[in-house]
Amino acid sequence: MILEPEAGHMVWLDGAFRSWRDATMHICDHHYGFGVFEGVRAYEVEGRTAVFRLDDHTSRLFRSARILNLRIPEQYDHECLNNVQIELLQRNHLRRAYLRPFIYLGGTHALSPRGRDLTVHVAVLALGWNGPDSSSKHAIAVRTSSFVRATGALLTRAKANANYMTAMLALQEARAAGADDAILLDQQGFVTEASAANLFVVRDGVLHTPPKTAALEGITRDTIIRLAEQSGIPCTEAHLTREDIYVADEAFLSGTAVGITPIREADGRRLGSGSPGSLTVRLQAMYEACVSGRTEHHTTWVRWV
Ligand code: PMP
Repeated sequence: MILEPEAGHMVWLDGAFRSWRDATMHICDHHYGFGVFEGVRAYEVEGRTAVFRLDDHTSRLFRSARILNLRIPEQYDHECLNNVQIELLQRNHLRRAYLRPFIYLGGTHALSPRGRDLTVHVAVLALGWNGPDSSSKHAIAVRTSSFVRATGALLTRAKANANYMTAMLALQEARAAGADDAILLDQQGFVTEASAANLFVVRDGVLHTPPKTAALEGITRDTIIRLAEQSGIPCTEAHLTREDIYVADEAFLSGTAVGITPIREADGRRLGSGSPGSLTVRLQAMYEACVSGRTEHHTTWVRWV
């Protein structure tokens, strides 16, 4: 889905545009994986590029950094990071892209975040995207993970590098068992989210999603909640157990990379009819209109390049 960069591809690191090859880091950087990141999508719409909710992604990046107490050099403020992302799309002639701004702690003076005055690095990648535009027509199978999303321990509000170790172990486990993605439970056994996406279930026409205390504050999740509100579709934030998924009429994942992806099977049990449900399909259409700037309500969500 994400394309390998070609020769001459540009990235941005600590205030300078550099070639992909030259953007290297010191061997002592990145110990303990101390960092935060974002994933932003740019969509091709009739020859133009629409970047979806760039401001909200940048705000979440800064919130994640605050949670980890990463002190970002002042000159790399919100506007600067927005502009760098746009400029990278232009410099790399990308129409459909995945943007990855990230902030991490360098360690040339010490090997761990215990060190004082460690450098905070800020970087942005913009990579070509050739996957489905927003939402998959294919329904997927999920599997409840043996890996727990430990809410208090992982600071799950932050999109922090370290959280993805658990997420990727869960994804590997699910894939090894023949499923497409994992559903992680918290310590109490409540559903949190998938490896890198939020979860919604539909029962009797009502949307339910786990509260933000247990899952990342997904921007797609927020988009869906707002679209549901506007369309009169009831939606609640509620503690869900794995049984709530088993007995759902419909269920889907939401995220920048996966869009709205229907779930056809959970732990070997078929959900609903086994194909994308009507509310899921309706939301997919609304989401698609939104990301491509075709809805009058949310024109401010799209930044045209
Ligand atoms: N949860 C996790 C753990 C994620 O990595 C993502 C992807 N960013 C999401 C949820 C969905 O968030 P968003 O809709 O903002 O992409």
